[in-house]
Amino acid sequence: MARLAQTTGLSDVQSEILATVRKFVDNEIIPRAQELEHGDTYPAEIVEGMKEMGLFGITIPEEYGGLGESLLTYALVVEEIARGWMSVSGVINTHFIVAHMIARHGTEAQKRHFLPRMATGEVRGAFSMSEPDLGSDVAAISTKATRVAAEGDTPADAGVAGEGDYVVDGTKMWLTNGGTSTLVALLARTDEGAGSPHRNLTTFLVEKPEGYGEVLPGLTIPGKIDKMGYKGVDTTEAVFDSFRIGADMVLGDAPGQGFSYMMDGIEVGRVNVSARACGIAIRAFELAIEYAQQRETFGKPIAQHQAISFKLAEMATKVEAAHQMMVNAARLKDSGTRNDVEAGMAKLIASEYCTEVTQEAFRIHGGYGYSTEYEIERLMREAPFLLIGEGTSEIQKTIISKGLLKEYRLRD
Ligand SMILES: Cc1cc2nc3c(=O)[nH]c(=O)nc-3n(C[C@H](O)[C@H](O)[C@H](O)COP(=O)(O)OP(=O)(O)OC[C@H]3O[C@@H](n4cnc5c(N)ncnc54)[C@H](O)[C@@H]3O)c2cc1C
Repeated sequence: MARLAQTTGLSDVQSEILATVRKFVDNEIIPRAQELEHGDTYPAEIVEGMKEMGLFGITIPEEYGGLGESLLTYALVVEEIARGWMSVSGVINTHFIVAHMIARHGTEAQKRHFLPRMATGEVRGAFSMSEPDLGSDVAAISTKATRVAAEGDTPADAGVAGEGDYVVDGTKMWLTNGGTSTLVALLARTDEGAGSPHRNLTTFLVEKPEGYGEVLPGLTIPGKIDKMGYKGVDTTEAVFDSFRIGADMVLGDAPGQGFSYMMDGIEVGRVNVSARACGIAIRAFELAIEYAQQRETFGKPIAQHQAISFKLAEMATKVEAAHQMMVNAARLKDSGTRNDVEAGMAKLIASEYCTEVTQEAFRIHGGYGYSTEYEIERLMREAPFLLIGEGTSEIQKTIISKGLLKEYRLRD
């Protein structure tokens, strides 16, 4: 569809990647999405196709085997994929965030160990901050990692950076790709004795096999959480019970920096969620404008009733506004500028508009919108997750207002 959600100034490479992905979405994802969603089936074949296109390494630097593309390219790819089926974008999103965190903050050894295998999709990432008792208040996590000497080492080795082990205890909640991933970026409390609670947290890189049950001594992935939508992709808990991990698997050079690394990951994650919201809203609009020209009431297509055509106009305006704000947030990050406020704004507006646009598309479908044979019912179940994931709308407003009050503070 030509007119809406266009992005100016793309390179030939970006345009080519997007054209390839769009074709893949139209041919391989849209025709299968309803069946896979209703069967809660992992899209294994689609994932293989994405591996072949190099999408798991799209933003990983070329020196580590990836395509070295920008956040903007990634976001536009995600927009396309979510237009087909949001669950597929869920498979690559946590992977992308973990790859971003390793590329930005990992040691050279960690980059060499993980990134080339992540670029091919052989290693797939999940990230884990939330716990049963908290999601928004990340710094209050209770999962604890205690430094101990590695087996065979002297106790003194536990004090040397990169040496010794940690023992992790606690329960994590809501890991997207918890069962199907083989690498989890885990945030745990290490109590470095720092004054700020944010500096007492550390991110660990936990390599594990795919699957459910006790996948490693001390690490259990209990099973899939049954969700109202966003099916196919697995979301799980993770239970750590005296789980041992080497100090060399602390992301970066030293413990105590895990919170800021996670927040950096979440910042790009917010652009990604905005892009998903744009993709779903675009699809809802496409379905609505097609249906409105086919369905007749009172002797004419419903699109010719002003009440319906005005809905279409408002929906399209929201799609356009959300897309442009998402693109702006991605470009800012790509330029090296901090984009916390703009990513928050894009996430807030794109997710709220997505909910409104899918709701209007649903109304335009009349009774058929309630049938599981029509795609719109799936989009209606997907949209609400975007109001929650990577920080709720209330949390986005907190971030935006904090940033603005800092920027516009009164000066004497
Ligand atoms: C399908 C799914 C997948 C997910 N995947 C992941 C994942 O891969 N990794 C991960 O770590 N997490 C994941 N999450 C967790 C998600 O990030 C959290 O659910 C989200 O951050 C909200 O946290 P919460 O559910 O604990 O809500 P709470 O923090 O308990 O919030 C409850 C309500 O209170 C409001 N609220 C909270 N604090 C404030 C405040 N200060 N001011 C005003 N209002 C406030 C919230 O906006 C919300 O409306 C996932 C969640 C879902 C549903």
